[in-house]
Amino acid sequence: MKNLLLGLSTAELKLLAKELGEKEFRGKQVSDWLYRQGRREISGMATLPVALKAKLEEGYQVGRSLVKKISKSKDGTFKLLLQPAYGVPYAGRFSCCVSTQVGCPIGCAFCATGAGGFKRNLSAGEIVDQVLTVGEAAIKEKLLAADGRVSHVVFMGMGEPLLNYDATLAAVHLINGELAIGMRNITVSTIGYVPGIYRLAGEDLQLTLAVSLHAADDALRRKLVPGMTRYTLQEIADACKHYFRETGRRVTFEYCLLKGVNDGQADAAKLALLLQGLNCHVNLIPFNSVKGSGFYPPETFRVTNFRRVLEEAGITVTQREQRGEGIEAACGQLRRQALTGQGDLRIK
Ligand code: SAH
Ligand code: SF4
Repeated sequence: MKNLLLGLSTAELKLLAKELGEKEFRGKQVSDWLYRQGRREISGMATLPVALKAKLEEGYQVGRSLVKKISKSKDGTFKLLLQPAYGVPYAGRFSCCVSTQVGCPIGCAFCATGAGGFKRNLSAGEIVDQVLTVGEAAIKEKLLAADGRVSHVVFMGMGEPLLNYDATLAAVHLINGELAIGMRNITVSTIGYVPGIYRLAGEDLQLTLAVSLHAADDALRRKLVPGMTRYTLQEIADACKHYFRETGRRVTFEYCLLKGVNDGQADAAKLALLLQGLNCHVNLIPFNSVKGSGFYPPETFRVTNFRRVLEEAGITVTQREQRGEGIEAACGQLRRQALTGQGDLRIK
C-alpha cells in the first residue's frame, strides 16, 4: 500500500517536493489541491508538472476515504459510513476492463470467450460505453466516490482488439481525449496478431501493449492458441522489438500459467531465452478456473519457481493477483454463465 499524502502539512509537502528534486512551491501547490480543492487523485492536480505527478504516484496516494453508505434524516442531519483509503482495492486507481468483440474468433483452449465462438465486432461507441457504464455502476454501488472516475482502461475483455483495429483505435482516442484518461493508463492486450502490432507501432501512442504468449514453444502455443498459428513466437517477439523501437514503450508479455501444461521451470527457461534482449516485462496470470476446460491453476510453489527462473535471467516479473474469484471474472466467463446458466465450458 502506498503512503498517504493526506496528513502531511504544507511544510512537510514542501520538503517532500524538494526530496523529489522539485522546487519547494510545488509542495504548496500539492497542499492546495489536497486540502482546498479536495482532489482525490494525484492525476487531477492540474498545475503540477507531469514528471512530478508521475514521481508522486510511484510512492504516494491521496488517501481519501470512500462513502459506502449515507443515511439521511428529515431534519437534515446525515450520517456517512466511510471506508478508509487503506483497504480500498487499489485506492486511487479504478481499472475498467473492456471488450472489443462479442465472442472471439481465436478460440484459445483455456478461455471461456474462445469456447463460445465469434459473434461480431463492437463499435468504438460500444467500447467507450463500457467505460462510462462501469464508472456509473461503480458510483452507484459505492465502489467509487460520487466524484470518482475510472482511472485506467485495459482492453482485456472479450475479443481480440487488433482484429477490430479501427474501432479499437477510435475508442483509445476517445478514452484518452474525451474521457481524459492518460494514454499511459490505457493497455491494449493482443493474442499476438503480428500485422496489428506493426500497425499500432506506427501510431506512436504512449499506451501499453500487452501480448499474450502462454507458451515459449511453437508446438505448445499452436495447441493453446489454435486461431493464431500463422505467426511464430519469434515473429511475435520481433514485432514487439519493433514496437519498442518505434514508441519507446516497454511491452508487457502475459503468460497464463496452466498446471502441468506450461508452468515448468524448463518452460520458464525457454521463455527467458525467447525474450532475451527485449525491453519487456512479464505478467504471470495464474489460470482462473473455467469448469470443463480440462485446465487447472498451478500450485503456488510452481508459480514461484517459474518466476524465479525469469528473474534470474534479468526479466522483470509481476504476478496478477487472484481477484474476482467466485464472480466469473475471467475473460468471457460471465457471458458464458449468462448464456448457459452455468460457467461450464462443456455446455454449448
Ligand atoms: N484477446 C486478447 C485480449 C483479451 S484476453 C488476448 O488474448 O490478449 C486478456 C487476457 O486474459 C489474456 O492474456 C488471456 O490469455 C487471459 N485469460 C483468458 N481467460 C483466462 C482465464 N480463464 N484465466 C486466466 N487468464 C485468462
Ligand atoms: Fe480470444 Fe484472448 Fe480469449 Fe484467446 S484469450 S480466445 S484471443 S479473448
